[in-house]
Amino acid sequence: MNSKIDLIYEGKAKKIYAHDDLDKVIIEFKDDATAFNALKKAKFDGKGELNCLISSKIFEFLIENDIPTHYLGLKNKNSMIAQKIKIIPIEVVLRNTAYGSLCKQTTIKPGTVLESPLIDIYLKNDELNDPLLTKERINLLKIIDNEDLELITDMTLKINKLLKTFFYNIKLNLVDFKLEFGYNANGRIVLGDEISPDNCRLWDLKQNNGTIVSLDKDRFRNDLGGFIKAYTEINNRINNYINSK
Ligand code: UDP
Repeated sequence: MNSKIDLIYEGKAKKIYAHDDLDKVIIEFKDDATAFNALKKAKFDGKGELNCLISSKIFEFLIENDIPTHYLGLKNKNSMIAQKIKIIPIEVVLRNTAYGSLCKQTTIKPGTVLESPLIDIYLKNDELNDPLLTKERINLLKIIDNEDLELITDMTLKINKLLKTFFYNIKLNLVDFKLEFGYNANGRIVLGDEISPDNCRLWDLKQNNGTIVSLDKDRFRNDLGGFIKAYTEINNRINNYINSK
C-alpha cells in the first residue's frame, strides 16, 4: 500500500503527507527555493535531496545529544518520517553574528560578533510578513505560555551550543539560524521543521581571507551563484565528518 497518498499540507519548500500511523507524517523536501517571503522563486535540481539529507544528519546529531525532535528516520533521499506535531506559530531565530534583517533594522554592522547569542522571535504569518514579536505581544496573542516559551528559549540556546561546535568542526561559522517547534502526540515540545542551509547562515572558514563566503541560501537571496555547489559542499563535509568519527 502506498502511504504517500494524502497530501496534508504544501509549504514553500516541503510537502507533508499522511502516514499509515496517524501520529506520524512523511515530509518531502522540494527543489523549490524561495526568498523575501516568496517574492523571489527558483528551482534547483537536487536541492530537496540535499536539504533532506543534511537535516536528517543534524537531527540525528541533536537526538544523540538529548534534544527532542520530530525526526524519526529517512524514508528516501528526499523525504523523512517525522512525528506529527502541532506547530507553534513562531519562528525562533538565534544570532551569533549580526547579519540580514538585524542589520537592516538596527545600526549594528554586518559581521559583528555578538557578545552573547541573541534570540529574536517572529510571528509565523506570511500575510503579515513574519513580524518581529515582543514577549508582551506573545502574551497578548496567547500564542504560548511563559513556561513553554522559556523551555523553547533554553532548547534553542542548547541547540546553538551543539550546532556551533558541530559546524566549527567542519570549518563552518554558524552565523544564525531559524527554528520551529511543536507539540507532539504526548503534548511534549519538540524541534520541528528542518535544519539546513535554507534556514542557517553558514560561512566558510576554509576560504576565510577576510571576505564572507556564504554556503547557504544567501547565495540565492543575493544572486551569488554556486547554490547547489554550496549545499553539496555542506552535505559532503557533514558526511566526511560523521564517517571519520
Ligand atoms: N530565516 C528563515 N526563514 C525566515 C526568515 C529567516 O529560515 O522566514 C533564517 C535565515 O535563513 C537566517 C536567519 O533565519 O539564517 C535569520 O534571518 P534574518 O532575520 O536575518 O532574515 P533575512 O535576512 O533572511 O531576511
